[in-house]
Amino acid sequence: MARLVLLVVFGVLGLTAIACSSAKPTPVPISSPAVHVVTTIYPAVYFTQRVGGDRIRLTSIVPTGAHAHDFEPRPSDLAAISKADLVVYVSEFFETWMSRALESAGSSVMAVEAAHIEDEHGTTGEKDGHGHGHDQADPHVWLNPHEAIEMVERIRDALIEVDPEGRDTFEANADSLIAELESLESRMSQALEGCRIKTAVVSHEAYGHLLEDFGVEQAGLSGLEAEEAASPATIARIVDLMREQGIRHVLAEPVVNEKLVAQIAETVGATVLPLHPLEYLTSAEAAAGSTYFTIMDRNLESLQTALDCP
Ligand SMILES: [Zn+2]
Repeated sequence: MARLVLLVVFGVLGLTAIACSSAKPTPVPISSPAVHVVTTIYPAVYFTQRVGGDRIRLTSIVPTGAHAHDFEPRPSDLAAISKADLVVYVSEFFETWMSRALESAGSSVMAVEAAHIEDEHGTTGEKDGHGHGHDQADPHVWLNPHEAIEMVERIRDALIEVDPEGRDTFEANADSLIAELESLESRMSQALEGCRIKTAVVSHEAYGHLLEDFGVEQAGLSGLEAEEAASPATIARIVDLMREQGIRHVLAEPVVNEKLVAQIAETVGATVLPLHPLEYLTSAEAAAGSTYFTIMDRNLESLQTALDCP
């Protein structure tokens, strides 16, 4: 009896030891339940689930369809983080609340920041309490397949650290996901090289990383944060820009800025096409089985039309 209690206690301590020590990971016993991973926004959820497969039990604390930029963790979310074997998030520039959440959860929680983004000054540092603003780094890195691959590799390595016996599974799953991302990257190069229009008019300036390799700028109704309201000056500037450059399309994400997008399109006689930042899925998209890849392919079609690509 005493021995059984000791084993249980050791089991709990063992998990804690894995969580706080990267130097000496303790193997998870074969009979242990799946590794419990807590994640945040959709790219972290999708990439983690693909790499973790059946070996992980995944909880996302950011609800489907939420305005991801506005999310603030509730006490129950903080409790979930404190009990996780691993926390996967995208970036301190997106989940600006994460460092405080991890601090309140204590030092024993292992967390991986999947994207390592440098801000405009080449440093990473403390943010104010209001999310990322104009003068800060663009956190929408997952929209660039090359940067998405780096995220997948960091998630894979973190999973191996908490569950070393899953190494073969995690490596095989990551390899197949990376192959899909490489294939997407080559589809993008083919679709977006040499486009006639050099500015994408978008509802939210989430596409810097996606467009950076193709010499295309973005003009957004909202800046880096989706919920910022467009000023009359911004709207006037975009209308002028569209008329000057002969831009015939406004690229709009679901839910956000819908009325304003429609109004601008009508003013200029432009067409609205979907362009999705993928920081969330709507409930309808989740129910329809949409994924990162199906939505990225639709994004590509919209961009090809809007930018008048060959
Ligand atoms: Zn965004």
